[in-house]
Amino acid sequence: MANLSDVIKIDKLPEKAIIPMRQHDGIACAPLVKKGDEVIVGQKLGECEGSDLAYVHSPFCGTVNSIGLMPNPSGKRILSVVLTPSECEQTVDFIPEKNVPPSRLIEIIKEAGIVEYYEKPTYLALKPGKRIDTLLMNATFPLITHAYLSSLDKVLEGFKLMLEASGIPRGVIVLRADDKESIKAFKNAKVDGKPLTVAPIVGMRHADYYLEDVEDQIIVVAAGNITYTPTMMNLLSANVMGRKLLLGHELPDVHVVVCGVKSAKAVYDAINEGKPYLESAVTVTGAVNNPKTVIVKFGTPIKDVIDACGGYKGEPGKVIINGSMGGVAVYTDEVPVVKNTVGIVVQTEAEVLRDEATVCIHCARCVDVCPMNLLPGRIAAMADQGMFDRCKDYFALNCIECGECAVVCPAKKHLVQLIRYSKLQIMNQKNETVEATE
Ligand code: SF4
Ligand code: SF4
Repeated sequence: MANLSDVIKIDKLPEKAIIPMRQHDGIACAPLVKKGDEVIVGQKLGECEGSDLAYVHSPFCGTVNSIGLMPNPSGKRILSVVLTPSECEQTVDFIPEKNVPPSRLIEIIKEAGIVEYYEKPTYLALKPGKRIDTLLMNATFPLITHAYLSSLDKVLEGFKLMLEASGIPRGVIVLRADDKESIKAFKNAKVDGKPLTVAPIVGMRHADYYLEDVEDQIIVVAAGNITYTPTMMNLLSANVMGRKLLLGHELPDVHVVVCGVKSAKAVYDAINEGKPYLESAVTVTGAVNNPKTVIVKFGTPIKDVIDACGGYKGEPGKVIINGSMGGVAVYTDEVPVVKNTVGIVVQTEAEVLRDEATVCIHCARCVDVCPMNLLPGRIAAMADQGMFDRCKDYFALNCIECGECAVVCPAKKHLVQLIRYSKLQIMNQKNETVEATE
């Protein structure tokens, strides 16, 4: 009987691989190949110019079947190169580099197309153009972290290379306090021959406290039983560093940047093995026969990943990418795994909530459960009426999209969707204002 801690690498070739030309929140690449071309592993498929880019490489050998708009986990249709993979294992020459200066390290990370779990290219995340004193590694997705524990030395080396590349003086690795397996592994790990300091975040003892105390370059902290999703950057900063974000501010404003476990391993692979970013770990949970964590090549359709987990258990009702609360439900399992895919959740037809929203009865249950002390029902009602300025006044941007309010709402209001929509509108208005003043 398989369990969630099992990690398998999917070796079976998919019938087709869909490689989107944009796998991050930035500029789309232009394809470098055309229909009928043969490609090999690691070959660059997409390139672009600009300040926010992530090159795309082929994780497969194969033939270019078509190039066009294809379904994507973002919910949009994105220009993609569709390959028919072949058994050939030919790769481009992977050329490792040693003892290179920081500027070259950043260049290698950029060339490798590495992207953070929150969709920012890693080379940009490491160099935000502000004074940064701490690089946080968010290792609070336990199953993803477990998938990399067998290569923890490479993850730590990659993290050190990120510090070197960025010039950030210190690193903090953040674990969940209840993730005993990871805590044990990190306690046994060493950096530069020295054991890592593993400390709990307690009261006012944030990471800064320990860093000053032990004077290590890298420490590990166990910070509550929270998985910090991309919408929870403000909590991550407040809980781990004791630095609260002002409304509309981002982590670099409090001198912090974040990376993931996957990207640290990818940085190691890029610099020490010369490999671009081609695959990563994804957890598959819910209504599948063998839930597990898989190492999967980007471009592999979700349905092939679910097949590798024993197939659907019962009648599938919904497939959700990256979490049942803040994730995106996809309308087809033909969408591919991409660089920011962390998890796939399958719900059965019976589990899918199909209740119609009714009128708010002002019970305030949503207020009681909101960890950010917001008024979810009020914000959602204003968003529904297009009053986005009012949503902003009611701190909609502070919502971490945890979904707690929607779970308890007896009126089945679509609170998270409405609040998320208001956040999008507020940010769009903000960007328009910035553009207008430039
Ligand atoms: S999703 Fe709801 S409960 Fe969670 S932070 Fe946002 S408003 Fe609060
Ligand atoms: S929980 Fe639902 S019904 Fe109750 S106040 Fe909030 S939005 Fe209204």
